[in-house]
Amino acid sequence: MAASSSPDLTLYDPFERMQLVAPACFLCGTPVDPAHQHVTVFAPWLMQRYGLADKEIRLLDQSTTTFRELTIPCCEQCQQHVAAVEARVEAATAADPAGLRQLDDQTLFLWLGKMFYGIFVNELARELEPLIKPRYPLAENRSLFSRFRSFFQVLQGLRVPMQFDDFTPGSVFILDVNVGPEGPAFAYDDDLATMVFSLRLGNVAIISCLLDNDMLRHVMQRVYDDARTRPLHPIQLAEFKARVYYGAYLISAIPEYFPRAVKPGDEVLVMDTFLDDVTGSVFNPWDNMAYAQTLEELWLPWKIELRTILADPREPMSYLYDDAGQPRTITTFPA
Ligand SMILES: [Zn+2]
Repeated sequence: MAASSSPDLTLYDPFERMQLVAPACFLCGTPVDPAHQHVTVFAPWLMQRYGLADKEIRLLDQSTTTFRELTIPCCEQCQQHVAAVEARVEAATAADPAGLRQLDDQTLFLWLGKMFYGIFVNELARELEPLIKPRYPLAENRSLFSRFRSFFQVLQGLRVPMQFDDFTPGSVFILDVNVGPEGPAFAYDDDLATMVFSLRLGNVAIISCLLDNDMLRHVMQRVYDDARTRPLHPIQLAEFKARVYYGAYLISAIPEYFPRAVKPGDEVLVMDTFLDDVTGSVFNPWDNMAYAQTLEELWLPWKIELRTILADPREPMSYLYDDAGQPRTITTFPA
């Protein structure tokens, strides 16, 4: 009754021959017809639950598409793998998006990672259209490609049974927020350069830096603990995100991943990691001016100017903390 075949533990590398936008399954490289064989970047259950299918998405080249049209080529077999992860998240969040907290780190990483990678591939495909002039030329960015190549190796956990040896590829933060009746039920934002992706489902926000081996969560542990003491006002969530975005920007070491040699009968591929920190420090030094600029951008909806944020240049303005350094509670803004 033993299983007749062990799972295929071979990793696929679309970066080797730059097949990222080829008509091939994004997870295994099998040639497919992308018009018919694909998965949507945002899962059908997510689109249905939040009424997203026909909503517009603006991409970096300023073109627009809809959630429904944002797809990645995927063979039938890998569609099953993706569906299995999506089903776990759908079930955990069916009653309440706070159910995200019941999911293990690997499931959350794979779920967020698939959306993030799907957006990246779509951005890239558009950039290759010669008539469109992108704001950020992705294809020329070598460091970005090496990051995505590392990230994609562990994202293969969607298809290949994989075990991370004593590490988590990304940092994930889950926070309660009080959006209020006017706020949309669903929101997302991403930054390809720092590999930060965040989603908000109702009053629960999930923010991740997808390629930092959990380092950001480690250095932000106190801020994260404090942020979980009460539901945040959206202006506080924006500040927390500014810290994640800026923190991710400061990371100087890119994790690399190595699959262990596979022995006959192995059911799981074990991944090791290595942090290339030649400079001896994982993070570049914090700069209040640069952080304040990130904060200003995240605080755009509240129109708070840089000079206000930096009224005290040594202590940028905060809504997460009061002057005594204690977590602040904000119910309305302006207070
Ligand atoms: Zn496939």
